[in-house]
Amino acid sequence: LPELPEVETIVRGLARSIVGKTIRRVQVRLEKMAPAPPGIPFAHAVTGERITGVRRRGKYAVIELASGRSLVTSLRMTGRLVVQRPNEPDFPGTHVVLDLSGGTRLGFADLRTFGRMRLVEPGEPWDAGLGVEPLSSGFTQEAFMSMLLKRTTPIKVFLLDQRRIAGIGNIYACEALWEARVNPSRPAQALNKPAIRRLHHAVVDVLGRAIDMRGTSVDDYVDADGLRGGFQNALSVYGRLGEPCVRCGKPIVRTVLAQRGTWWCKNCQR
Ligand SMILES: [Zn+2]
Repeated sequence: LPELPEVETIVRGLARSIVGKTIRRVQVRLEKMAPAPPGIPFAHAVTGERITGVRRRGKYAVIELASGRSLVTSLRMTGRLVVQRPNEPDFPGTHVVLDLSGGTRLGFADLRTFGRMRLVEPGEPWDAGLGVEPLSSGFTQEAFMSMLLKRTTPIKVFLLDQRRIAGIGNIYACEALWEARVNPSRPAQALNKPAIRRLHHAVVDVLGRAIDMRGTSVDDYVDADGLRGGFQNALSVYGRLGEPCVRCGKPIVRTVLAQRGTWWCKNCQR
């Protein structure tokens, strides 16, 4: 967490409030969260830059700068990018602060300090290891089908592999598998064509619905304006151990796959 829908929601919020603004002043209170590029402090490197765009790649928020460089931000478990109004107090755990023209402040907070904001040079292939965007035109049924060939890994573990499909985490993997009625521990290569079609549709559908509801706040996720998401009220299996399946009424079970809690319905997901 946060996964694709949460980062997408954050990025859309940031796009509304920081694009076109100039970075006037930068405070790095915890250096590992905004590592300095070689030979120059992070604050010096980005002060004076104008923000030209904000986009998402996988689970990363990418703040594009007029020089062609970008600030690639990974929120990891508990990171937050929050826009503050003038004189509004910093969020707890704010370790990097970008003061922008017009009095806007962008705070990068992370209580667990795993998050990172990295300055990336133009053309630097920082995302070369990331797979296809599941909401892009490149994620077709055929592409998905060929990705699964000869893959013996459980389908749920496959969905979490950012090198194959970028942006899906534990919540949406569980939800998509339930929607497609696929057993999470099934080897990827063992899915038949109808199951692959259902799962492809479910991945796109679940991510789209979660973006529409501005993400899932099962923990401390908030968007760029500090607001909680709404998809936690629409979850079918994730975190619902023992509660009745909304499709068949049997209790939701929890198993562990690759060290991750996996919620599913043994009756519906064969
Ligand atoms: Zn069920």
